[in-house]
Amino acid sequence: MTEGYIKFNCDWMQEEFPFQEEIFSQLETARTKLYKLGLIGMYPDGIGFGNISVKTGEGSSFIITGSATGQFEKLDQSHYALVTGYDFDKNSISCSGLTKASAESLTHAAVYESLPEIGAVVHVHCLWLWEKLLNNYPTTSDEIEYGTPEMAYAVGKLASEINGRKEKVIVMGGHREGILAFGNNLIEATSQIINIYNQYKHE
Ligand SMILES: [Zn+2]
Repeated sequence: MTEGYIKFNCDWMQEEFPFQEEIFSQLETARTKLYKLGLIGMYPDGIGFGNISVKTGEGSSFIITGSATGQFEKLDQSHYALVTGYDFDKNSISCSGLTKASAESLTHAAVYESLPEIGAVVHVHCLWLWEKLLNNYPTTSDEIEYGTPEMAYAVGKLASEINGRKEKVIVMGGHREGILAFGNNLIEATSQIINIYNQYKHE
């Protein structure tokens, strides 16, 4: 059965949200490390990739890098968005901020939804690493495409299955180059990706 494609829908309140300086600085520290390795960035055609998020402690809301921010080495607070609600079946989110939340916010939401103790999620793109990890690490089906409710469900399910493991990394089989990691905080989530990157870099 082929399911109809449900367009990603973002209910955006274009206004500033409360953003603690300390959280912002933690996000930037983590993002800069990933940016320097090219795990967050921009393709030659101008499309940005990679995103990073952190739970704010209030309900299910989280702060995530905004859409089309991949190319910037440094972000300011206006490049981030607060996701305040989401609906997987409708492929929709509600957010506020001066930039719209990333279209991949639902994948982050899926991890937070299945594992309430998780505090941060990192999603990067890296072709060579993706090819090495594909089906060697927990991998979502190659039939599940980026930006679909199915991807969110698949990632949420895998996340809860591997939470007891040391390495909390998911390869997105149907999202070429896409890799996701999570942890109790930004340092942990970022280290997950960087450790694997360093481990496979020399192989
Ligand atoms: Zn992606």
